Amino acid sequence: ARDRQQREAFWMPFTANRQFKDNPRLLVAAEGVHYTTADGRRILDGQAGLWCVNAGHGRTRIADAVQRQMTELDFAPSFNMGHPLPFELANRLAEITPGDLNYSFFTNSGSESVDTALKIAIGYHRARGDGGRQRLIGRERGYHGVNFGGSSVGGIVGNRKQFGTLLPGIDHLPHTLNIKANAFTRGLPVEGGEELADGLERLIGLHDASTIAAVIVEPVAGSAGVLLPPKGYLRRLREICDRHGILLIFDEVITGYGRLGTPFAAHYFDVLPDIMTTAKGLTNGNVPMGAVFVRPHIYEAFMQGPESLIEFAHGYTYSGHPVACAAALATLDIYTEEGLLTRGAAMAPHLEDAAHGLRELPHVIDVRNLGLVAGIELEPRPGAPGARGFEVHRRCFDNGALVRYTGDIIALSPPLIINPTQIGELVDIVAAAIRDTA
Ligand code: PMP
Repeated sequence: ARDRQQREAFWMPFTANRQFKDNPRLLVAAEGVHYTTADGRRILDGQAGLWCVNAGHGRTRIADAVQRQMTELDFAPSFNMGHPLPFELANRLAEITPGDLNYSFFTNSGSESVDTALKIAIGYHRARGDGGRQRLIGRERGYHGVNFGGSSVGGIVGNRKQFGTLLPGIDHLPHTLNIKANAFTRGLPVEGGEELADGLERLIGLHDASTIAAVIVEPVAGSAGVLLPPKGYLRRLREICDRHGILLIFDEVITGYGRLGTPFAAHYFDVLPDIMTTAKGLTNGNVPMGAVFVRPHIYEAFMQGPESLIEFAHGYTYSGHPVACAAALATLDIYTEEGLLTRGAAMAPHLEDAAHGLRELPHVIDVRNLGLVAGIELEPRPGAPGARGFEVHRRCFDNGALVRYTGDIIALSPPLIINPTQIGELVDIVAAAIRDTA
């Protein structure tokens, strides 16, 4: 009974102890692309932890760096003084970030990166005497974490409904999935990107453009079920933002650090945002850390304030934490030496072919993919949306693969070290689960 109570005392809305009350599914070890469960089963990790363990599990190089750092300098305040590692890390990151997104601000999670980015956007305009720009624009079905700003610009209805209106002054663009004609597309949907992006012009028409600070989008929406932007969409958003002096923020918490086969999605789409948020893959998911990147003019404007050195504008106790920086530097070493930031491009055709092999299975209504991410959309059961997706997920786990599901969409985003044979195994397990699910 005590054991039971302890399990229930750990509070998280969707975790193992609520969905699997009598026999919680617990992972106790991990190595490469596999987890081991408490009952000794090996599970192929089809979701890179939670879209984060890009270099695979059990990387001793990161563990060693963390241990060394903890014994050498466990913590240093980031106010009034510093330590060398964030500077080193910022310089290393500037070598791989797109364009001149060369200034880093370190956080502890994706949610913090998003809230930081939104504040930077508003602060930037105000520093330029443009304080009327307070409105923010997100996207339907967008996910930007759970902090106040991120929840507000986020557009997944279920995530918001418990919290009322959240922040005022926010609108949501229509989502790309409204384009349905592109079912079973390999790579990017071709049609309709520009018209879809013109939804932004319509929102701007409703409010004065001079009241809008920023638009935030995930280049590929992950959490809502791998929603791909049609060709031309992001470029047109960029053009519209430029025309109206609105900042464009890419939330690359999932797409960053190699997921699409390029270091960042901005590289893949060849569209440069003004601000880019990251986390997850930055430290291979081993230690909590995020980073926000901005272009020089934004950095310079933002850093004009605060007026007094006694005040400070924004920062966390753990910004640039020495242990997190050490983990990130070791992770970047691995990414560079093993070519992982572009390996996804070589593996993508394998995932694409395997995933599209599922299209003839019962209830599969769409398959879509880009780089090392794929979404398999299932027809919802009448009156029970999400039940089929969950059942496929559960059967996969029982048969040796961990895959993410959102409602009736199965998402595959394996570690970037996965090989073609393992991709085949992963998709075979998904296929069997779909076949066995009524
Ligand atoms: N933005 C995006 C695009 C995400 O996918 C996530 C997490 N899945 C977040 C923000 C929030 O990150 P975290 O959970 O680390 O706060």
